[in-house]
Amino acid sequence: MTNGKLLVFSAPSGSGKTTIVRHLLAQPDLNLEFSISCTTREPRGEEVHGKDYYFISWDEFKKHIKAEDFVEWEEVYTDNFYGTLKAEVERIWALGKHVIFDIDVAGGLRIKSKFPNETLAVFVKPPSVDELKRRLKQRSTESEDKINMRIAKASVELATAPQFDTIIKNYDLDVAKEDAYKLVKDFISK
Ligand code: 5GP
Repeated sequence: MTNGKLLVFSAPSGSGKTTIVRHLLAQPDLNLEFSISCTTREPRGEEVHGKDYYFISWDEFKKHIKAEDFVEWEEVYTDNFYGTLKAEVERIWALGKHVIFDIDVAGGLRIKSKFPNETLAVFVKPPSVDELKRRLKQRSTESEDKINMRIAKASVELATAPQFDTIIKNYDLDVAKEDAYKLVKDFISK
């Protein structure tokens, strides 16, 4: 394999995309590696630097923007920046693996527009905004304000779903995991 594929999973937070991405990463036949993003937000819960994210300062983030090190970056929430380094994609391709991304909708669509032939862009659709709210509150790793910020953004993000290559409905997690597995398996065998 010269260059691997890019599997983008985007959705409002609380849609279950992270669970689906983790499930796919656990399937050895898919040969996937997680794209670790840079972020300026604080680590949450058990998150580990260099595994879940590269947690960096705003100064470092700015340096990467200036040096054009990012494939894409976004201020996903006010003062919280997230970005994918070109070096991260190259690192994974050098391992002979496909890259899987858990990124926001704008970032996901940007990757698709930069690498149209290599990318499968998947939108994970939650059952409803109420269900999103319930899941975010259950996760309870964040303040009420931050949860409300995520919910406000969700409606805008849901409207972008038709721009993706495909939509997975996450109404039943086991069904969604299986749908995702089949989609990825099919895409990487092309
Ligand atoms: P969280 O703070 O919940 O980990 O992530 C917030 C949002 O930022 C999620 O939708 C997540 O997928 C997205 N995100 C994570 N990494 C990146 C990235 O590198 N670029 C973009 N555009 N979004 C990202």
